[in-house]
Amino acid sequence: MVTTIDTDAKTLLLHHGGKMSYDVLIVATGSVPNKFGWPGQDLKGVQGMYSYQDLENMEVYTKNIDRAVIVGGGLIGIEMAEMLHSRKIPTTFLVREPSFWNSILPKEESAMVNQQIVNNKIDLMLKTELKEILANEQGRVKAVVLTNGEEIPCQFVGLTAGVRPNIDFIKSSKLHTIRGW
Ligand SMILES: Cc1cc2nc3c(=O)[nH]c(=O)nc-3n(C[C@H](O)[C@H](O)[C@H](O)COP(=O)(O)OP(=O)(O)OC[C@H]3O[C@@H](n4cnc5c(N)ncnc54)[C@H](O)[C@@H]3O)c2cc1C
Repeated sequence: MVTTIDTDAKTLLLHHGGKMSYDVLIVATGSVPNKFGWPGQDLKGVQGMYSYQDLENMEVYTKNIDRAVIVGGGLIGIEMAEMLHSRKIPTTFLVREPSFWNSILPKEESAMVNQQIVNNKIDLMLKTELKEILANEQGRVKAVVLTNGEEIPCQFVGLTAGVRPNIDFIKSSKLHTIRGW
C-alpha cells in the first residue's frame, strides 16, 4: 500500500517502509463513501458500502435489529435497501430528491421505481435529508434525526450519498488535485 508520494524524488513510500521509484504515476485508487460532517457519522453501525469489509460489518451490525435507515437515493442505496429487505429488516430509505434517481431516470421510470420500493414495504421518504445520528451508551447508533426534526429509531445507518476520490494518502504530497478533497 502506498502511504505517501514524494513527487520531487519521484518516489512512492510504502506502508512497510519500502520505497519505489516511478517515471510516470497513475493514481487509480478508487473511491470512498461521502460523509458530509453529520454528527454521529462515525458511530458503530453507521457505514457506507464499498468494500468486502463493509459487507462484513453490515452482517455484524444488522443482526437482530429492529430498523435500518439508508441515506442517499442512488444505485448503492437501492442495492443496500434490497439487501436489507431480503433479510426482512424493516428499512427506511431517505431520498433528498422528489423522486428516486430522477436526475438520471425519466420521470415515469423514476415513479415506477418509487412504486416498487413502496410495494416492497420499504419506507421511502422523498424530499428528506439527514441532520444527525444519535448514539446509545455503547457508542452505537440508536436513531437518526431529520432536518425537519423528526427522529427515527434505528440500529443501522447506511450512508450511500455518493463517493469521493480515495486520495487522502496523497494529501501530504505536493500533488494538486482539482476535484479531489
Ligand atoms: C456495491 C457496489 C456495486 C457496484 N456495482 C457496479 C455495477 O454493477 N456496474 C458498474 O459498472 N460499476 C459498479 N460499481 C462501481 C465500480 O465498482 C467502480 O466504479 C469501480 O470499481 C471503480 O474502479 P477503480 O479502478 O477506479 O477503483 P477500485 O475498483 O476501487 O480499485 C481501487 C484499487 O486501488 C487500491 N488502493 C486504494 N488505496 C491504495 C493505496 N494507498 N495504495 C495502493 N493501492 C490502493 C484498492 O485496494 C483497489 O485495489 C459498484 C460499486 C459498488 C461499491
